[in-house]
Amino acid sequence: MPDTMVAPSTSAETTTFDAIVIGAGIGGIYQLYRLRELGLSVRVFETGGGVGGTWYWNRYPGARFDSESYTYGYAFSKDLLKEWNWSEHFAPQPETEQYLNHVVDRFDLRRDIQCHSRVASAAWDEAARMWDVVLDDGRAYRCRFLITAVGPLSADTLPRFEGIGDFRGQSFHTYRWPHEAIDFAGKRVAVIGTGATGVQVIQTIAPLVGSLTVFQRTANWCTPLHNKRITEEEQAKIKAGYPAMFELLRQTPGCYIHNTDPRGTFEVSPEEREAFWERLYAEPGFSIWMANFRDVLTDLKANALFSEFVARKIRERVKDPTVAERLIPKGHGFGTRRVPQETGYYEVYNLPHVRLVDTRETPIVRVTETGIECSDGVREFDIIIYATGFDAVLGSFDRIDVRGVGGLTLKEHWADGPKTYLGLMSAGFPNLLTIVGPHNASTRCNIPRCIEQNVDWASDLIRYAEEHGIRRFESTQEAEADWSRHVEELAAGMLYTQVDSWLTGINTNVEGRNVRRVLQYQGGAPQYRERCDAVAAAGYEGMVLG
Ligand code: NAP
Repeated sequence: MPDTMVAPSTSAETTTFDAIVIGAGIGGIYQLYRLRELGLSVRVFETGGGVGGTWYWNRYPGARFDSESYTYGYAFSKDLLKEWNWSEHFAPQPETEQYLNHVVDRFDLRRDIQCHSRVASAAWDEAARMWDVVLDDGRAYRCRFLITAVGPLSADTLPRFEGIGDFRGQSFHTYRWPHEAIDFAGKRVAVIGTGATGVQVIQTIAPLVGSLTVFQRTANWCTPLHNKRITEEEQAKIKAGYPAMFELLRQTPGCYIHNTDPRGTFEVSPEEREAFWERLYAEPGFSIWMANFRDVLTDLKANALFSEFVARKIRERVKDPTVAERLIPKGHGFGTRRVPQETGYYEVYNLPHVRLVDTRETPIVRVTETGIECSDGVREFDIIIYATGFDAVLGSFDRIDVRGVGGLTLKEHWADGPKTYLGLMSAGFPNLLTIVGPHNASTRCNIPRCIEQNVDWASDLIRYAEEHGIRRFESTQEAEADWSRHVEELAAGMLYTQVDSWLTGINTNVEGRNVRRVLQYQGGAPQYRERCDAVAAAGYEGMVLG
């Protein structure tokens, strides 16, 4: 442990802390590290049985990064960067879980992390200027600063199918994947959902199962990941290039190594355009989404032309033209929903034991004891996999009863859409900081990069409060209203706002999530960072400190 980290020791019996952090994922782990540096007593509560958040829970077959591994790891410690070797350009889940455990042990963080501890409620006590935090088993704690690091995709949701509990075979949501290995050999398997998760599962298990039926409601525009192992030579290059790479990541809108091409789609000749798109299709990772022409995500015509390019690729790769047409999205353009990255995904549908059911043509009626009944009859299964996504961004907050000044709940406060200041605070909720909260740049970002920014900012605010004898800080209503309006305005011209997906807060499996919301700050991470820094430099403008 570095010398600077002199943290008060706490024991299992301690119930009052300077700070409580909810969640031991990438955000919670780093937040603990920074608060320890400040010399504060901290307890992190984690629902799971281990650390890692997303990378603890999502242990489904094929789970791996869509961001380049070396851009994803923590940047705060040069020694950590030096000693950790990623094995693949896009690392698989077990390696990331191992990495996060390594970080926790390397910085001696585990002793302040309490697993199997789900926070059920948090209530602000105005007289004491403390938060009362209660776990779902009734254990109660107090703290001065409460920091949520609950993740944007941690409230998993199942379809509201009749009979879902009746199925007698094995069934799992991908987020709740069991720790034991699942034997797929000879099994009749159903996968429901074709988002980034479904795609990873489908392409991975297809060769292992007896038969596979994919239930797709909305096709997505999937593009090749082009993952490879990292050679020794590449490893040395990556490490030597870390300072320059992290500097680049600070400058790109989503903190990826890919940057938007400044040209417009129609400013180049058709031949040049086609050659450019062919090159992007052959490149690894998100360059096809992030480094495309500048207008592909904002101009309908440009977007339609590029979507047609990807449609052609799907038609080339899927042998049965009817299946190919089903796999080509018809209701939304490329990149207006999260782009799943694939490895041989489309070729799966050329296998004789794989079937695609379009649930808009053939709706699911109910789950039975032995399978899934659709409008055209019952299909029998041994295993049903629900890759049906999350109550994104807001869901993990809603699952905690957070009560601020006068008993106002965060859920009520955000009932008509989130209201925040910098995506990090809400008026009426003093001393509460929401790492990766709604209206924050981090939900549209190579997430650890934006998490580090969020955590650094939150920690600097807490340090400032400590140094200035400030016991209470809160966003003003005006600052919250201005920021919320600014976030809405930034998103206004973007095509994604016209499409249903978790990015716009739509989830048919959750009551009330049928109105599109602006959940992310769309101005880009550099502009977001500048705004946050300016607020701090102005003595925390827009906040009441007392
Ligand atoms: P998702 O993108 O929300 O996809 C859920 C899928 O389930 C969709 O195809 C959805 O259909 C379907 N579905 C949900 N309810 C249904 C119902 N009642 N009937 C039929 N189909 C239903 O969720 P996800 O795939 O778990 O991905 C969520 C996000 O996690 C991704 O966008 C990505 O940001 C992140 N992720 C990242 C990685 C990575 O970095 N490597 C990997 C996986 C996921 P509709 O589209 O019609 O709603």
